[in-house]
Amino acid sequence: MLDWSEPSAAARRAPPSIVLNAAADQTGLGSIDRHGGRVSVDDKRMINCRADVNQLLPLKYKWAWEKYLAGCNNHWTPTEVSMQADIALWKSRDGLTEDERRAIKRNLGFFAASESLVANNIVLAIYRHLTNPECRQYLLRQSFEEAVHTHTFQYIVESLGLDEGELFNMYREVPSITDKAAWALKHTQHLDDPDFRTGTPEADQAFLRDLVAFYVIFEGMWFYTGFAQILSLGRRNKMVGIAEQYQYILRDESIHLNFGIDVINQIRIENPELWTGAFQEEIRAMIRAAAELEAAYGRDTMPRGFLGLNAALCESYMQFIANRRCAQLGLSRVFDETENPFPWMSEAMDLKKEKNFFETRVIEYQNGGALSWE
Ligand code: MN
Ligand code: FE
Repeated sequence: MLDWSEPSAAARRAPPSIVLNAAADQTGLGSIDRHGGRVSVDDKRMINCRADVNQLLPLKYKWAWEKYLAGCNNHWTPTEVSMQADIALWKSRDGLTEDERRAIKRNLGFFAASESLVANNIVLAIYRHLTNPECRQYLLRQSFEEAVHTHTFQYIVESLGLDEGELFNMYREVPSITDKAAWALKHTQHLDDPDFRTGTPEADQAFLRDLVAFYVIFEGMWFYTGFAQILSLGRRNKMVGIAEQYQYILRDESIHLNFGIDVINQIRIENPELWTGAFQEEIRAMIRAAAELEAAYGRDTMPRGFLGLNAALCESYMQFIANRRCAQLGLSRVFDETENPFPWMSEAMDLKKEKNFFETRVIEYQNGGALSWE
């Protein structure tokens, strides 16, 4: 059992560790400081930390550790889900309309490459600059979950006999999907530069922009309309295998999103000078622009709409979600107040009871902190 209590008197007497050399090792792969002091909780920081990043304990950010545990407890693999009903429906002549087939394929195509973009961003851009070991522990878990999600799309392609080239190239070949991917990539490309370092206000804000683009917008907004589309079909008993897999992905993504929100908010608390009025306006503009890209994708994906789902509903869902994300970041809303057109989405995480692991824990956690889950 981990001990969450305050550090003991002995630990408090431990020598301070701020005697690291000037070129503090933020990656954890630098030369070992043989004479450095032990890490104390107070030395730990989200970014630009000078304490040893190779020492998980003592923990500072319990929310990060809790999410790591929740992720591990949600383990699943796509091949556990039977695809028989989906295969029969997909191969049937009139079980699905052309509009439904188009929406399903575009949805799968969007996710198939997006899972890789998200994974690459974690591993190649975020991990290096997030100088906290418990957050890194979560990133390692999240990276594996992104691999499971990519596996899901491989399994769906294989099961339904879809054209893999068509699906995995949609992010390059379907302009409304390319626009979203290119928009997000803009915010990660320069972090991938080996010379990029946090530690100046400009660089730290660039890092925050990347977190907003990938956690809040990619995973927290665009994925949600994607989930709503497939789960809406599932509710009508169509593509139920894929819908079940999407429920598992949604459960994972809701933790990814909330981890990202906590990371951003914690960085804000520790570096209030970064969160200027102008910067807040910039983040709100990003969220608004992202909702508009999603609306264009919705019109392209569902030009006519079908039972229970159309581009207009998806657009108002996106606006509802965008306002929520603003609130979670302490920003004022970007769209007029709107009703959730898909209220059933909030119950979408109610998988069968035994699979629905973390909600009671989360409610308990909510009593003690400012966390909110989807
Ligand atoms: Mn994912
Ligand atoms: Fe994710």
